[in-house]
Formats: sequence, structure tokens, C-alpha cells
Amino acid sequence: MRMIGHFIDGKQVAGTSGRHADVFNPATGEISAKVALASADNLDAAIAAARAAQPQWAATNPQRRARVFFRFVDLINRHMDELAALLSSEHGKTVEDSRGDILRGLEVAEFVCGIPHLQKGEFTEGAGPGIDMYSLRQPVGIGAGITPFNFPAMIPLWMFAPAIAAGNAFILKPSERDPSVPMRLAELMTEAGLPQGILNVVNGDKETVDGILGHDEIGAVSFVGSTPIARYVYATAAQNGKRVQAFGGAKNHMIVMPDADMDKTVDALMGAGYGSAGERCMAISVAVPVGEETADRLVAALAPKIEALKIGPYSDAQSEMGPLITKAAQERVLSLIDRGVQEGARLVVDGRGFKLQGYENGHFIGGTLFDHVTPDMDIYREEIFGPVLSVVRAKSYDEALELPMKHEYGNGVAIFTRDGDTARDFATRVNIGMVGINVPIPTPMAYHSFGGWKASAFGDLNQHGTDSIKFWTRTKTVTSRWPSGAKEGAQFAMPTME
Ligand code: NAD
Repeated sequence: MRMIGHFIDGKQVAGTSGRHADVFNPATGEISAKVALASADNLDAAIAAARAAQPQWAATNPQRRARVFFRFVDLINRHMDELAALLSSEHGKTVEDSRGDILRGLEVAEFVCGIPHLQKGEFTEGAGPGIDMYSLRQPVGIGAGITPFNFPAMIPLWMFAPAIAAGNAFILKPSERDPSVPMRLAELMTEAGLPQGILNVVNGDKETVDGILGHDEIGAVSFVGSTPIARYVYATAAQNGKRVQAFGGAKNHMIVMPDADMDKTVDALMGAGYGSAGERCMAISVAVPVGEETADRLVAALAPKIEALKIGPYSDAQSEMGPLITKAAQERVLSLIDRGVQEGARLVVDGRGFKLQGYENGHFIGGTLFDHVTPDMDIYREEIFGPVLSVVRAKSYDEALELPMKHEYGNGVAIFTRDGDTARDFATRVNIGMVGINVPIPTPMAYHSFGGWKASAFGDLNQHGTDSIKFWTRTKTVTSRWPSGAKEGAQFAMPTME
């Protein structure tokens, strides 16, 4: 059995806690590896390595820090096929989709190649007589990232790339469901010239997370995962005096106006609803057609496409959608589909009976479509995180707008229309962090920032973009005087520049 340990001080080390978790091939349901769950000693070893290496790294000029990322970007590109296959083998998503996962993370590494410019402070010459004022952006010291299973390349890169580029050492605690790609990324960073101890991967579960949240030497924590854990991480880290950002779950709506191009809308919904088996925090899980006629056309066009979805293992290049991550995730989604039926939603396409010859123990569910879903139903309120799309019919644009506005979550939202006025009004008024206009998955590029509102994010700075440099650095403002004029004597009033 393949054993996955930790990556500490520039090398792979075995776990010593005696605790392990199973890593599965989601297409077959078989155990493919066992991953070590870190003890407090393993975490302490990673922090000791980080502490020893960080001052020297922070003192390395930013151009040299950037060069490590230039080489890392090149290495990822050269290892793309190997990384994508490894990612798919543990996550289950198609290889093409895994490439997208890696590429969106790679873009963050490309972005931080600009760290010499990004980390510059501000300077005011002559803020007062003989006085100059400037700000520095200094690393927090040791940062930590706790990541979910669904983007095992992109989300670790959201965090460790800006943190390390800015001069921090980093402890990454990836999801225990698919830890191999994060481990490979750490190896590739080392191959790119990153000094040992700057990037450490500590595999684990809640116990390891609690160790991170309680550790005095960790200055900032970034979390991405489900909302209940995000709330817990946010509250605990804040209580322990750490800087913290915590991103949670989602329920992303797509408003379909009567004037929308129906073919494009349906294609967009297919990809955004069923790509990656719906296991994306930016997946569209609710379609809101405006008007009965729009709704009828939409459901009629969607149903045959969902029935024709090519569902299969990542190893089949024809697959459009793979299995869910675990048996437990599969069972949870199946029970939510049962609940939707009990709640009175109309099950137009039922994915519960899906079976694939040779993969009977895989965690597959067929694409599922509910119509006539209403806001009081659990299947509307809860994040399903599976290949299940709910249609909520709205009578008017205003009624449609109210739905995402009133929902607990606020990650992403989209509107499909040909009317610029409506689209502009929607983007202005909707209380959601990322908005797509005729774009179903409006995940911003690395040089903008990613983050939801409401119960989808806790904390005030987003992932990547200039926000990430702010999150992983502290501002120090220096006021300096080199007086050449007359003596002023002691001043007892509050100093001003007057
Ligand atoms: P999860 O919350 O179960 O796990 C996330 C991380 O928290 C993992 O590293 C896990 O080991 C750790 N963890 C799990 N239980 C814990 C506990 N009780 N105490 C402390 N730590 C714990 O999430 P997941 O199932 O891996 O990922 C799916 C979720 O992540 C979905 O809700 C999805 O919407 C969300 N997500 C959000 C974003 C975003 O940017 N908002 C992006 C991707 C995924």
C-alpha cells in the first residue's frame, strides 16, 4: 500500500502518529493509498523548520524570490500531464478538468512573479519639515493554509504562492482526501530552488487543524472549505490572536431572462452544473428562469442533455463527468435527492439509479434535475455539492433577484440576458461576491481577487490579487526626520505636520 507522509524541511518524512486516513480511487471505490494524520510532534517539526528558514528567506531580495516562482511555473508546465493524472486519480474529476484546476493555480504563481512590484510600499517626501514617511509590507512570519478536497492544486496555490513570494514560511494542511498533488507541488517548489523549511506540507485532520489554530508561532491562517468549519476556524483563530480569512460553501444561482440565448444558456448550465460532478464552490446549483415560458423552454432543453451526459472514470477520455469524492458524499447527495422528492419538487431527471459496468463500487451519481423547487425546501437551502440542478421559477426579474439576495450564501451568481440595462442593474444590486454576466462560473483571474459574501466568506481580504499580498504581509509605517534647521525644543501637544 502506498503511504503518504508529510513534506517537512525540504523532504518527505513518514508520519509518526500511527494514525492514517484512506485515500480512494473514487471511480472504483478502492483504497489507493494511506495518508498519515499528523501528530503535534509532526506539526512542531514543520514549524521549527519554518522558523529556522524564514528570516533568511524574508531577507532575500524580492527579485530572487520571484525567480523561484519563474522556475516553478516552468516546472509545473513540464509536469502538467503527470500532475493532472495524479489529481484525477484521487479526486475523480476528468483529466481535462484537472488541468484546469492546475492551470488556475499556476496563474497565481505567475501573478506572484511580480512580487518585487506587488510588495512595494508607499513613500511621501516632505510630510512635514525635514520629515519623510514611508510604509513597508513585511511578511507575517509563518503562515498556514487549510484546504478542501475539490481543488487540490488551485487552492493550495492561492495560498502558498503569495505567502511565500512575500517572504513568509508556510505550513500547508491539504485535504486528507487527495493529498498527493499538494505534496508534489512542494517537491517542485524545492526543485525550483525554494530553500528547505519554507514550504512544509503537514497532512492531517481536525487534530492537525486545531494544532495550527492554537500554535503561537503561526501569524496568519487561510482556510477554504465548508461553512460550518470556516466559521469554526475563523472564530478560533481570531480568538487566538491570528489574522484569519475563511471561505465557506455556496449556492450559486443563474438567472435566465426571457431574452437570453437559450442554446448558450443551456450549454453554460450543463458545464457549470455538472462539470466536476457539481463539486465546485462556483458550480451553478440553482437556475432561475424568469417567466413560465422561459422555464418550460429551459427544462425541455436541459433534460435530454442531462440524460446524455457521458459519466465515467477519469481514465476514459470521453468522460464529461466523474464520480463524487467519497462513498459518504455519494450517500449524502442521494439522500438529498430523496428529500427533494419528499418535499414535493418535480424530479425531471433522476440520477439515483446510475450504474457503470465494471465500476459498480465507484461513487457515481447520474446528472439530476429538479423543477418547481421553492425557497422553503432543504434542497434549495442546503449546498448539495453534487450533480443536482434545481430550477426555481420566478415571475419577474425582481422576484428572481430576490432569491440570491435572500440566500444565506453569497459566493457566485450569474445572469444570462441580452439586455445590458438589466445586466448592469443586477451587477450593481446583487449582494454576492462574484457576478457573471453571460458567464456561468465567474471565477476571477489571479490578478483580481476571489471571495464571496455572507456565509461564503469570513474575514475582510480575498484570495489572490493584491488582497493576497495584503493578507500575507503586515504594514509598518516609518516617520523619519533628519533635521537640519533650528532646534525646536520639547513639544507637549499632539505632533502635527502644521
Ligand atoms: P471541509 O470543510 O470538510 O474540509 C476543509 C478542510 O477542513 C480540510 O482540510 C479538512 O481536513 C478540514 N476539516 C474538516 N473537518 C474539520 C473539523 N471538524 N475541524 C477542523 N478542520 C476540519 O470541506 P471539503 O468537503 O473538503 O470541501 C468542500 C467544501 O468547500 C464545500 O462546502 C465547498 O463549497 C467549499 N469550498 C469553498 C470555496 C470558496 O472559495 N468559498 C472553494 C472550494 C470549496
